[in-house]
Formats: sequence, structure tokens, C-alpha cells
Amino acid sequence: MKLSNAPKNEIFDCGRCGLCLNTCPVYQIVKDETLSPRGKVQLARFVDEGNITPSKEFSDVFSQCLMCGTCAANCPSGVRHDTLFVKMRSQLSDQFGYGWLLRLAYQVFTDKEKMEFAANIAKYGRNVVLKKFSNDLASGRFNLHRLPEFNKKPFRKQLSEENRPAGKSRGTILYFTGCATNYMFDNIGKSVVRILTKMGFTVIIPNDQTCCALPVFINGEVDKALSNILQNIAVFNKEDTVAIVTDCATCHSALCKGYPDLLKSMGYPDQDALSLAKKVSDINEFLFDHFRLLSPFLVKKIPVRKVTFHNPCHLRNAQTVNNKVENLISQIPYCRFIPSQDANVCCGGGGSFAYKHMDIAKQIVSKKIQNARATGAEYWATACPGCYINLSMNLSCEDGLKVVHPVELINDLI
Ligand code: SF4
Ligand code: SF4
Repeated sequence: MKLSNAPKNEIFDCGRCGLCLNTCPVYQIVKDETLSPRGKVQLARFVDEGNITPSKEFSDVFSQCLMCGTCAANCPSGVRHDTLFVKMRSQLSDQFGYGWLLRLAYQVFTDKEKMEFAANIAKYGRNVVLKKFSNDLASGRFNLHRLPEFNKKPFRKQLSEENRPAGKSRGTILYFTGCATNYMFDNIGKSVVRILTKMGFTVIIPNDQTCCALPVFINGEVDKALSNILQNIAVFNKEDTVAIVTDCATCHSALCKGYPDLLKSMGYPDQDALSLAKKVSDINEFLFDHFRLLSPFLVKKIPVRKVTFHNPCHLRNAQTVNNKVENLISQIPYCRFIPSQDANVCCGGGGSFAYKHMDIAKQIVSKKIQNARATGAEYWATACPGCYINLSMNLSCEDGLKVVHPVELINDLI
């Protein structure tokens, strides 16, 4: 299925001011106008006007983007690079395709059974085979020993679908766990459920939820993502819920922005996606907004921990979250929050970007590591499992920094 034509303002309203060049992590490394947000917008325009016939090289230009959304968030003319780039990628993937590995990955993300199967193979590889090798085993330039282990059992199979508080319930929260928590970060999932039930909420983890599919549709595989999107909207769009919480910036971005935008550009009704989006909260945002319900339970005494923060692009560029994650961390007892100077810069992960463009990704993350180390912090908090994995795998085994999700810091105090 083709996406409809991009609204003209998404393409032609570029005033060529160049502000997006300073905010684009890829341009800051490569310094090549063709690969800048402004350059890509102009190329898309040439295609739209029929002045360029896309080629494989042209397709590579659009793959050199982290889809971080920073250019769109900072464009004074309101150019929607994110929507425009998805449209371009969709057309280009039809024509030029992807490598077999990514094609396989997109099939796995959109099929629950294949996902379970792939997660079992990955678990064996990580938890059994890798453990036999010595430290600092590297693949490409990643430190595989810093890759978190896979859950022994998927998180959603470890807990009941409904988790009630000890006393009277204040209301129901639906928990969108995302694939990373389900297969790799059960500690984050257990922390979310424990914290919210302590605060008096009933937490429902719907069994029928699927991958948010953002990694699939931002790479142009829109048709493959559609069934996941429609299923998640049907499963989560329930009346009388206090909130739908996510622990992953990428899932948050998909539910809040990606689904309504994509359905609209495909000509589908977007009302259900919009009403779902209004109820979605990042877990850190939710805890910050309801801190008075949480603080009476933060009673454990522990030594003070120095914590710095990496702000995931998909949260930073969401309009609702603002500085709430940093403010939440600053309020956690026994946390001394030390800001890192480039906390608001992309980590260079960008889903498959770090795999396809390893050199650029490595340069982006190395700078961040240097700045995070300079804070003297022991913990590097981030609110996105994707960033968590990318930051971890780029640290050496001896590095004093440990990557954590803020809910893990909070859970330690209950
Ligand atoms: S910030 Fe917006 S208007 Fe300015 S060059 Fe970039 S896309 Fe064009
Ligand atoms: S989405 Fe991010 S990486 Fe891509 S062009 Fe915009 S700022 Fe650059």
C-alpha cells in the first residue's frame, strides 16, 4: 500500500535557514549537506517535482538518518521531516529493498510467534554461548559482555495479567511493556508494576499487546506494521483507565505520535489512535506527575548514588515530557543528579542505524561516553531500553558507569 502524497507544507515550507543542521547528530559528524535534514528535504522535493529519479545511492542517503525527530522538533517553519522521511523510505524500500537481515528482523517484529522463537535463540546465544567467552568480546565495535542478558522467561509470562494493590485500588493503569522489557529487561517491568501497585493502582498487562512496530514503519515497511498498530489500538483503547504507561521512549513515541500520524497519512481513520494517544504517559512522566503518591514509600536508607542522565530523542521530542525525567531523578532520595553536558544529544543507536552506519554511530556515542564519564557519576540513567543497550554495549567492562532505567533506582528504595 502506498502512502498518500506528502502535504506540500511538509516539503516546500523549508526556508533553508539551516537551524536543523546544528541539531542533527548525523550532520554534526559527517558535515555533508546532502546528508543533512535540509539536504534530505530538498532531495525529497526534487523527487516530488520529477527532477530526480531515485537510485540505490539516493536510497542510502535516506538510510543515513537516526529518525530521532530533532530536526522536526526544532524547525521554525514546521517542516515534518519525520513524516516525510517515512514516506520517502516507504517508496525507496519498495524499489530497492533492504538487506536480508533487516527484512528478517521486520518480519520478526510483526509476528508474535516468530518473535518468541527469535528471542529464544538470542537468549541461548547471549545467556549460554557468550558467557563462555572471556571479557571484552567484541562484535564489530560493540562490547557484547555489556549486552544485558535475556529474561529466563518473557516478562509478560512471569506476572498475572492483572496486578492489584494491597488495599483499595485508585484506578486501573494499562502497561504497554514493549519487546525489550518483555524479552530482556524484566527488572524494569517488575519495578514498574511494584511501584505502581504500591502507589495504589491496579496494573493490567494486556496479553494481546504486540510490538509497537515503530522500528518497522520508520524504515518504510508500513504495510508490515499496520496489523500491529491496529491490534494495539484495539487492545489499549479502553474507557475508564487512569493512564496507559510505557517504559520505553520509542514505544511512547509510537503510541503518542507515530500511530495517529501514520494512519492519517495512509488515509485511515485516526480518531481511535488520537484518543489512545491522549492517555499515554511515559512511566517517568507519570511518576513525576504523581510523586506525592510515591514519596511515602521511598523509605530504604542506602548510600548516596551519583547519577547522570541520557535523554532519549523520542522522549525529548515528545511535547508532554519536557524535563520531567531529570526532575524525577533529582527528587529521588539518595540520588545526587549531575547533568551531563550533552544529555540532550542522540546516543547514535537509532534502531538499525548503529548496525548499518557503525562508523558514524560510534563517533556519536563515544562523545557522549566521554561527557558522561566527566560527570564522575556511577549511574547513567536513561528512559529507553534501546538507548540502554546502545550505551551499555559501547562501555568497556572496566568502565565505572552502569546504565540503569530510573524505575530501577526508585524500586531499590521501596
Ligand atoms: S530548520 Fe526547517 S526551515 Fe530551516 S533549513 Fe531546516 S528544514 Fe528548512
Ligand atoms: S531525524 Fe535526526 S538524524 Fe535524521 S535528519 Fe533529523 S536530526 Fe538528523
